[in-house]
Amino acid sequence: MATMQPGPIAYFEGRYVPIQEAKISIMTHAFNYGTGLFEGIRGYYSQEEDNILIFRLKEHVDRLVRNFNILCMEIPEKAEDIENICIEVVRRSGFREGVYIRPICYKSELSLGPKVRGVESSLCCYVIKLGDYVDTQSGLDVAVSSWRRLSDNAIPTRAKATGSYINSALAATEAKQAGFDEAVFLREDGTVAEGSAMNIFIVMNGKLITTPPNSDILVGITRNTVLQLAREELGLETIERPIARTELYICDEVFFCGTGAQVAPVRSIDRRVIGNGQPGPISKRLQSLYFDVVMGKVPKYRHWCTPVYKH
Ligand code: PMP
Repeated sequence: MATMQPGPIAYFEGRYVPIQEAKISIMTHAFNYGTGLFEGIRGYYSQEEDNILIFRLKEHVDRLVRNFNILCMEIPEKAEDIENICIEVVRRSGFREGVYIRPICYKSELSLGPKVRGVESSLCCYVIKLGDYVDTQSGLDVAVSSWRRLSDNAIPTRAKATGSYINSALAATEAKQAGFDEAVFLREDGTVAEGSAMNIFIVMNGKLITTPPNSDILVGITRNTVLQLAREELGLETIERPIARTELYICDEVFFCGTGAQVAPVRSIDRRVIGNGQPGPISKRLQSLYFDVVMGKVPKYRHWCTPVYKH
């Protein structure tokens, strides 16, 4: 008898199915109009525990469910069900390595017309293996994008909406085509927003500064984690305020953070070297703490880690 290879299992139309069976129609509302909300959640494989620890699952699901109201979404699954589905797709897929879990709530009706109310929504969820999304060690070379960050009043950046990633894709592609690793978005008012799919921090005279929640950003769970770790573990002063483009050039350190990016130091912006061109000391300390926390090694934050397998 052939043994089944562990392979990705998806949640689709209320059932767990092999991912290749999870298919939507080309007439799906979300496919036509970008009317989906999603999350990206990491699971870290801990060798010592032989388990996958999902990082801040509750907070990701909470953000998703709160955002339902923006797109008038109603689905039968409650927050607790969505958490269980995220755990279950990983468990059924049998992975024993780093994973990325993607629940998507989308307008699943086959109907015409861009509207949000009165269009049926559904939940699906899949999992893939994922290592580093960007280089976290040597420092990234970054450019300010010619694309502006979309405004929360145009396509809500606060919601992690599928359609809004056209904005991210344009900026990331422009940066990569010009030989950079990543982009920094400015807002329409010229102040800094965030990276293509990550929040941004600067360090200035020992203080940690990031853009505020009402500055056309996705309010990242990693951002909130970094703010808390900086305050509680490193005793740093943290400030949420608008950041000017030129502050990026003159500050001591810059780093990105996000579920995919993790904590990723930046070594240059628009070909201006930041600090001495190496990841700075505060970025490095926060990064190392972050990696310990996500691997379940810091008891105080252990409740942020949800184990997948029951031994
Ligand atoms: N901003 C954008 C535009 C993103 O796509 C992401 C990744 N989800 C982030 C910020 C970081 O958010 P989080 O830390 O919750 O992953």
